[in-house]
Amino acid sequence: MLKKQDAIVLKSIDYGETNKIVTLFTKEDGKLAVLAKGAKKPNSRFAAVTQPFVYGSYLYFQGNGLPSLSQGEAVDSFKELQFDIVKSAYAAYITELVDKLTEERKPTFFLFDWLLLALRQINTGQDAEIIARIMDMKMLPLAGAKPELDCCACCRSETRDPVAFSVAYAGFLCRNCIHKDERAFPITLPFAKLFRVLYYVDLTKVGTISVKAETKRRLEWMIRTYYDEYVGVQLKARRFISQLDKIGGLSSDVDK
Ligand SMILES: [Zn+2]
Repeated sequence: MLKKQDAIVLKSIDYGETNKIVTLFTKEDGKLAVLAKGAKKPNSRFAAVTQPFVYGSYLYFQGNGLPSLSQGEAVDSFKELQFDIVKSAYAAYITELVDKLTEERKPTFFLFDWLLLALRQINTGQDAEIIARIMDMKMLPLAGAKPELDCCACCRSETRDPVAFSVAYAGFLCRNCIHKDERAFPITLPFAKLFRVLYYVDLTKVGTISVKAETKRRLEWMIRTYYDEYVGVQLKARRFISQLDKIGGLSSDVDK
């Protein structure tokens, strides 16, 4: 049976001498691995459409076993992502995160839209690191680790001005509860608001978010600590980004 779907390439691995196994994130069926015969050959008609981050329309044969790619047509290849090392590093981070936190053939409609929007936003020059943090935050409920950002995670009182973020309590802490977790990250009110925005923001509106480099480092550290505690995924792209950071590959990322 042939099936046609819009999809985004999450990853592509070599298989045998000439083939690739391509992990697609499809709109209707979620994550799906397909065999792209001959795609490793440079002149293959599949060479371009099996590159990471490509958004396209894919026709594949669905029989017993691994579906086999029959046709592919790129809708958007996100050229900027393919050729800019920082953008491609963050695009790789986001696609790897989606790959690690989803199961095959479990459709999540909104996730397809988020992923597409995130790649589009990075491609058009929005802050790639912030887009990655937004995806980190938005993926948390899917990973079964939704943080409490609407009230104090300890006493449950409604708090307009949380003073800390606690990994142990999985959320904000109010003034009365901050002492309950000595490892909680103290936060300012603007930081708390930013944290909430990253979680709730509509990805089409990220252009309005401007964050200082120092704040970004703090966000990354807090979110990573939270992920290590509750999600526990090791991302290759994260290691690459921190290496880039060390050699100054992100130095264009100046304070705004
Ligand atoms: Zn409290």
